[in-house]
Amino acid sequence: MKEDKNYIEFISKLANLLAEKISPSVAAVSVNRLFKTYLGSDSIDIVIWDNNNMLLKDFICNWNFFDDEEQIKTVNYIFSCLSVNNENKFYFNEKEYSCDLKDNELVELFNDIEDENIFYYPLISDSNVFGLLKVTCSDEIIFTKEFLESINAASKLLSGAIINYTLNEQMEISLNFYRAMKDIAKIIESQYELSYIIPIIGEMIDRFMSSHLIYIFIYKNDAYKLVWPKACKDKKVYELLAETKPETEYLISDNSKIGIFPISNGHETLGAVVAYSNIDKLLQKDIDYLIQLTRQSGMTIERANMYAEVLKYATMDALTGLNNRRQFEIRLNQETANSKRNNVPLCAMMLDVDYFKNVNDTYGHAAGDCVLKNVSNIIKREIREYDIACRYGGEEFFIILPQTGINEASLVAQRLRKTIEDTKTDIQEVGVEGVPYLKVTVSIGVCKYETSMTAHDFVQKADKALYEAKTTGRNRVIVS
Ligand code: GH3
Ligand code: MG
Ligand code: MG
Repeated sequence: MKEDKNYIEFISKLANLLAEKISPSVAAVSVNRLFKTYLGSDSIDIVIWDNNNMLLKDFICNWNFFDDEEQIKTVNYIFSCLSVNNENKFYFNEKEYSCDLKDNELVELFNDIEDENIFYYPLISDSNVFGLLKVTCSDEIIFTKEFLESINAASKLLSGAIINYTLNEQMEISLNFYRAMKDIAKIIESQYELSYIIPIIGEMIDRFMSSHLIYIFIYKNDAYKLVWPKACKDKKVYELLAETKPETEYLISDNSKIGIFPISNGHETLGAVVAYSNIDKLLQKDIDYLIQLTRQSGMTIERANMYAEVLKYATMDALTGLNNRRQFEIRLNQETANSKRNNVPLCAMMLDVDYFKNVNDTYGHAAGDCVLKNVSNIIKREIREYDIACRYGGEEFFIILPQTGINEASLVAQRLRKTIEDTKTDIQEVGVEGVPYLKVTVSIGVCKYETSMTAHDFVQKADKALYEAKTTGRNRVIVS
């Protein structure tokens, strides 16, 4: 070790670095560099004891496990020794020393120097050893008392920073958890299609079950059907699902890595949330979270089902106030029949919001809903009184234009497209910071009804024109 190395500067730089609010993986790189620059070490590692899985995990490398068996043995051995007898001890090349090194002990340490030298210092919180700082050095370093004191001081600083970090992380997780619970309860205020709700619930649960994959199954006709995400290849999940009875509160696999949490409305099984990992065990706190989230999801799905039941008899779409899909079918049949019978012109346009998924993904579903409401309001304003505007699907609209020729229909479509392009949707109520409004465009397919067509053909024709508008660049009208 060169004499001009400044240990005080090392400690103060380390303290400053650890006080910054940066992620541990970013901090780790800088901590490593400080050790290299000031102490001349080759590398450092930090391992933390994971009480739930009963093993040491690598803090710097994203909690990966060590994969070198020999290393695992040594690290575990030293960790267990220091845990029992941690009062001011450290290990050097697998030998225990006291941190208050006497001169004769320092000489002993000198005699132990090899080509590669490893120090282990305990990481301590409330006099419990919760991990180890491992410092690897070559024999070029002169191991002075100051050098050793610096590593000791650094291990204390790192202990505090790591404890702080894990506490913060835990707080953040609880906060996100309550946010997710609230969000799940909220989604259904305007939504009732399960196909739309389930992915949102899935994403929400997924967001803070970081070490487990989440699957959502719906229970229908005496079987569990995967609805989110698209595939689940793990056989064990299906085996466990088969074992799940209606009265099962939850089921954890023998290795504790898979959990089945049935979704119920109190008297029947609606589905199941499944948490799956092939590495990590489910901790008690994960299980508690999943029980609560599943309960909340069950209530949301049940409410959605009831809502859908009520809406069966409604004609209006709840979000947009346009005719709903059911009413659309009725009106479409009426108008095509009328056109055929009385030989009056009939046109239609099918409209789809461009890149709408991006809106949801970037600004959230509530912002997406604002956009849909706004587009619907523009449609209502721009069409004539006897035109029939319907919400066909998520962000797709179908407008039936009775007694309208294709030229006129095309003009209406162009005007609508332009107005939507020029309109800002106010999303301030959603509260996306720095984004007071959004702009979207739409693609429109326009077509004319021919008396030889069925109502279904008519819709297909509009859909084909819309598809062409999409594939030729979007934000345009294609007249079939
Ligand atoms: P394209 O330009 O090709 O139409 O792209 P797109 O992203 O609009 O197309 P896609 O069909 O992939 O995305 C439609 C999205 O609309 C996916 C779905 O989550 C969302 N969606 C469907 N119904 C609703 C709703 O009621 N509210 C909100 N906010 N989003 C919805
Ligand atoms: Mg679409
Ligand atoms: Mg779209």
